[in-house]
Amino acid sequence: MVTSYSFSSSLAFQTLETPKSPFAFSYSRFRTLTCTSEIDTPKRKPKFTMDKQKSTSKGRKKSSYGTSRRSILKKTLNQEQVNFTAPISDDPVVGIIGGGMSGLICAMYLEKRGVRSTVFDTGIHGLGGRMGTRVIDPQPLIFDHAAQFFTVNDPRFNELLNAWLEKGLVQEWQGTIGELHNGGQFVPFPASPPKYIGTKGMRPLANSLLYETSMVSVVRPCWISKLEPFNGMWHLSENGKPCGKFDAIVIAHNGKCANRLLMSSGLPLIAKQMKRLELSSIWALLAAFDDPLPLQGSTAAVPFEGAFVKGVDSLSWMANNTKKLLKSQSGGPHCWTFLSTAAYGKQNKVPQENIPAATAAKVKAGMLEGVEAALGLSKGSLQQPFYTRLQLWGAALPTNTPAIPYIFDPFGRAGICGDWLLGSSVEASVLSGMALANHIADYFQNGGAHPSEFAVGLEQEFQPLQGHDIGQFPGLETQQTMNQTEMYQLVK
Ligand SMILES: Cc1cc2nc3c(=O)[nH]c(=O)nc-3n(C[C@H](O)[C@H](O)[C@H](O)COP(=O)(O)OP(=O)(O)OC[C@H]3O[C@@H](n4cnc5c(N)ncnc54)[C@H](O)[C@@H]3O)c2cc1C
Repeated sequence: MVTSYSFSSSLAFQTLETPKSPFAFSYSRFRTLTCTSEIDTPKRKPKFTMDKQKSTSKGRKKSSYGTSRRSILKKTLNQEQVNFTAPISDDPVVGIIGGGMSGLICAMYLEKRGVRSTVFDTGIHGLGGRMGTRVIDPQPLIFDHAAQFFTVNDPRFNELLNAWLEKGLVQEWQGTIGELHNGGQFVPFPASPPKYIGTKGMRPLANSLLYETSMVSVVRPCWISKLEPFNGMWHLSENGKPCGKFDAIVIAHNGKCANRLLMSSGLPLIAKQMKRLELSSIWALLAAFDDPLPLQGSTAAVPFEGAFVKGVDSLSWMANNTKKLLKSQSGGPHCWTFLSTAAYGKQNKVPQENIPAATAAKVKAGMLEGVEAALGLSKGSLQQPFYTRLQLWGAALPTNTPAIPYIFDPFGRAGICGDWLLGSSVEASVLSGMALANHIADYFQNGGAHPSEFAVGLEQEFQPLQGHDIGQFPGLETQQTMNQTEMYQLVK
């Protein structure tokens, strides 16, 4: 389904011209390409070095999605910097590439500031990215297969949460959650901090977020494969098909796909920061059983609905999704989501879009053995699930972060938002989307003048991230290098 797509399909994409008088500014070692018919002299001298070198479009090669990591890096570092100098239009529009939590929140908050946007997302079944829910009719079977729950620490997110609670989009997860140690010892977490879930799952929450907006268009499924600066605007396209032109763009996704998209975009600094991001891989095994899983010892005394698993190589999390999402259902089937450790994901990494059958069988067996070990069951005693589905999240969670809410290149009129800017959680992605939206609105309000004052995070160093394998939850963390509360205070 392609939703509300209202752009002219007759946009002409032309080769970028060499500016006659490239009075452009370069960020450090990158050459700049001025993208306008009129060349402006900024009123204040930016912090960046002047670069009067003529830029050419010769070195710009068509992006190839089969390109090696090394050549991506080389192209990323050698590409020319785009420098938009045309004034911002009176009614600017932002192209947001990625309809996960950060991109959707960015669109919502741009609207709050009176700025129009279009969100492009690859999702075939819906929006939300890593807020994924799978429902298999007619039983129904239901599984959140990435984000499991979220916590709320920041007052700005709390305000949003209250609105979602009021609309019934989310609810507090009342089930018991805690740590399950190898052998079946369960230690419940205290009720505080509260843990929230999408009432019908995470994806329905994501799908509902833009219902009440009037200045946001959504285009899905759509895989933006090219960004081209031309005549003061960003032109986006999907495999040669024009997808519209935008005053600014937001990259609200990460990983290999973003690296390839940015490789020849004219945004070397943004591309360089994106390339520094490191991501874990996590296997998700969805399994439906006829009978409840046998709980014994402390797990029988306190039947849990969700558990961070400790001391089992193949498993970091298990949750009873039937109990979590279908409260009223009595009896079977019993749907469980099992998530692997990041270490197990790394050991068994394969291309996520083409998982060899032998790997799938090995991983499924390894994870079910992990369930037995976690629950303290004897080997081979676990009942066979009547339904399973295995998925690899090849770019699951960030393991390092610049610890700033967003990155913005005012010369290229492009920003990045996403969980990894601040941490690894739904809350981090929400705060990032909000903060970038406000920054872009401020930049537009300023008419694009004094661009260097709006540059954020282009040289920021990264630091390692720790927490649970499936995210950081203030109050539920085991050990962290950084106090996330402090990190959230960095958000303007
Ligand atoms: C297995 C797993 C378990 C997790 N558990 C939890 C949890 O319990 N609690 C928690 O708080 N967090 C959890 N997380 C993390 C949480 O899911 C993420 O932090 C959050 O959803 C990230 O949102 P995002 O918008 O930054 O990115 P994403 O959700 O990744 O969104 C990016 C979107 O962009 C789209 N896209 C990519 N390329 C293009 C393109 N070229 N054109 C158009 N669209 C494109 C993608 O399809 C995707 O929809 C988990 C993550 C994983 C993988």
